[in-house]
Amino acid sequence: MARSELSDWWDELSATFHDGRYRCALVLDVDETLLNPLERWRDAVARDFHLELTVDEIEAAGGLDPMLRYRSDYVDFVALANRLRGDLAFNSDLPAVEGALDGVRALERLSKVKVAFYLTTRPDVVRLETSENLRAVGFPDRPVITRPVHVSRDQTAEWKADVLVEFVTMVRPTLVIVVDDNPNLAAHIPAMKINLLRPLLLLGPLSNAVVDREAFEELHGVPTASWPDVPRIVETMLDEEFDRMFGEDDRRD
Ligand SMILES: [Mg+2]
Repeated sequence: MARSELSDWWDELSATFHDGRYRCALVLDVDETLLNPLERWRDAVARDFHLELTVDEIEAAGGLDPMLRYRSDYVDFVALANRLRGDLAFNSDLPAVEGALDGVRALERLSKVKVAFYLTTRPDVVRLETSENLRAVGFPDRPVITRPVHVSRDQTAEWKADVLVEFVTMVRPTLVIVVDDNPNLAAHIPAMKINLLRPLLLLGPLSNAVVDREAFEELHGVPTASWPDVPRIVETMLDEEFDRMFGEDDRRD
């Protein structure tokens, strides 16, 4: 996403999060957090690699990457994956992750909580398709921040952390809660030196992802397996945070 577009979003979001109506900004990842592309990935490796895998097997392995990494044709998979990540049809009309829609609706019903934007490692070229897919499924119509072409996929976590820091610096919401299934994101949060950010790790469909839970919790992050737990966890985070910042009385206002 271009810099000028980003600063326009920050201006708009400042109006939302700076006037006291909303205190907690939610930032949501897309793939394997809100939308589920795993059936499509399964079909793609069946077609190109003659590998008959089930979605359950892919989920149990924590994704295709750990399953295919040691194959001699892994480099071909990487090429396929890179092509599909920029493919318009592949990134359109995906179904929601189980429980995600109800979870996001429950979050927006919480007092002073609003989805600020979606933050995805999908490239800029599929931004409109992503936005349309989210809206069609029923997620709130908010900005989708996609990865600019000059940022490589290996640097996703660093890039997302940079966007979050910029958001916090420019918009100054009271609290930001990030819901993402990528455990690496949390590792970049202490480097930000900003104490307004709370990562919430959604293990999601790839529920076998390897997570150092202790390290994650040290960052005040909370790992969770599925969407039905998320609203309660966010509510607890908010209560603790607002008590700490404002004292109990103010929170009830
Ligand atoms: Mg994801």
